[in-house]
Amino acid sequence: QARIESLAIATYLQGEDERYLRELMIIRDLPIAISQGQLHLVFQPKVDIHNNRCNSAETLIRWQHPQLGFIPPDEFIRLAENSGNISMISDWVLNATVKQLALWKAQGIELKVAINLSAYDLTNAQLPGDIKQLLADHDLPIEALSIEVTEGAVMKDAQTVIAVLQQFKGIGIAIAIDDFGTGHSSLAYLKLLPVNEVKIDRSFIKDIHTDATDLMIVDTSIRLIKGLNLSVVAEGVESTEGIDILRRLDCDIVQGYVYSKPLKADDFAIWFNQFSQA
Ligand code: C2E
Ligand code: CA
Ligand code: CA
Ligand code: CA
Repeated sequence: QARIESLAIATYLQGEDERYLRELMIIRDLPIAISQGQLHLVFQPKVDIHNNRCNSAETLIRWQHPQLGFIPPDEFIRLAENSGNISMISDWVLNATVKQLALWKAQGIELKVAINLSAYDLTNAQLPGDIKQLLADHDLPIEALSIEVTEGAVMKDAQTVIAVLQQFKGIGIAIAIDDFGTGHSSLAYLKLLPVNEVKIDRSFIKDIHTDATDLMIVDTSIRLIKGLNLSVVAEGVESTEGIDILRRLDCDIVQGYVYSKPLKADDFAIWFNQFSQA
């Protein structure tokens, strides 16, 4: 028995060591990833289900590591946050997104794009002004960019974050609450924050066609959000049944594999032109 236990502990430690080494590698290599061009963006359409049109998208980051392969953004974003490297990533995302928006504008593709910001970004009082300047430098209207923030991001330092969000609102950058329903006090934040849009988390959406409780939660959330005059997005919709149900519930915007997975810029442009002509 004791032998089995020590064996189990040894195996566990080995697993822990591996995970620890992987995390160290990720943290060490993040700055290199930026300078060596290992990061890229993908874009996922957001479709207005009232008129079946797409005029916005969310940008998501991808990292292809030379040894570790594809590293999920959930994993390296968390590590970047913990190691104090997140603003480097957010800066990269912001610049790459704005460059892409300018390229698309030149090709006649007029699109609004949302970027994800982390808690730490929202304590940077310079950021709203910097973004405004960056858009102006590229001849883009302020509405071209919006931001997505989670409830968790606000909790860290609510006073500072709310002040920064007020600045974003003041200059005309739209704000979406991401992963709605998964935080601790969703309702309190809805009242407190200057938001334009609420994205209902995928965990409530994915079984909406089979699970009566999820259907009830989503129905009630949509009524609440729309009652506050905010726009409502359902994320992670994978089936046309899902779209039909959400349309019936008066949801505004759908994002999910049912329309498209997140795509590289060129593939996104092809998807967008086809969808816009259909
Ligand atoms: P998120 O902001 O909630 O992004 C939505 C996630 O759901 C994305 O995963 C997207 O690929 C995935 N998704 C979209 N539609 C579907 C669907 O129909 N089915 C399923 N199963 N999944 C769907 P992804 O790209 O792996 O990103 C995960 C998280 O990593 C994001 O969650 C966000 O929190 C974070 N993240 C990604 N890019 C960035 C970034 O540039 N900056 C920051 N700060 N965080 C990012
Ligand atoms: Ca998001
Ligand atoms: Ca989300
Ligand atoms: Ca999420």
